[in-house]
Amino acid sequence: EALIAEIEGETVETAHLTGRATLSPRVLAALRQVPREAFVLEADIAEAYDNAPLPIGHGQTISQPFIVAIMTELLDIAADQSVLEIGTGSGYQAAILAALARKVWSVECVPDLAERARAALAGAGCSNVEIRCGDGALGWPEHAPYDAIIVTAAAPSIPPALIAQLKPGGRLIAPVGCAFETQILTLVEKSGSGAIAQREIMPVAFVPLVDERAAR
Ligand code: SAH
Repeated sequence: EALIAEIEGETVETAHLTGRATLSPRVLAALRQVPREAFVLEADIAEAYDNAPLPIGHGQTISQPFIVAIMTELLDIAADQSVLEIGTGSGYQAAILAALARKVWSVECVPDLAERARAALAGAGCSNVEIRCGDGALGWPEHAPYDAIIVTAAAPSIPPALIAQLKPGGRLIAPVGCAFETQILTLVEKSGSGAIAQREIMPVAFVPLVDERAAR
């Protein structure tokens, strides 16, 4: 509850940027329902309910709870919708999305993280999340289009495949910018006719979206 209060406080403080002064009851319920301690390393369990990112190995992090909350809030997810996540990491964000949506598809490029996230999600009783190991910049075309897409690693621009896999009327949220610089959390809305509108929300700091083509 102390963490929820902190998240609500930060939501008020950033309302001039996000346009949201409060979190919806469904998002608050999801935050209360999912035990973050099940998604952090055993050594960090004492810090699981701090409003801070934590290391999860492979140079990656579980995002700060406030950032998870506000990104989720901005997606306005309904109970019958499908969501694509890029960057499964610990699986915590996926678990929050799973509490709100019908189905969550999540792509992670580090096999060990994908494996651990699957185990953590199963342990937390999440049965509507599917994880694939691969390059998230390509999305997951087999299950497209998605009502909502969330990218939890930063790229200089939003991969075009992800915009293509967004449903008309759908929303995508992603940190846009380079590693080791401030990135801008960006909300993309696709209209019913397929027109794209992009809005800059606020500065954030994410690990980079690895360019798998460059890595090969
Ligand atoms: N959503 C996560 C936080 C993820 S940190 C959570 O709740 O814990 C970003 C993740 O994106 C890392 O796990 C990293 O391995 C992954 N990632 C980076 N580049 C990627 C890519 N090109 N494709 C898929 N996953 C990627």
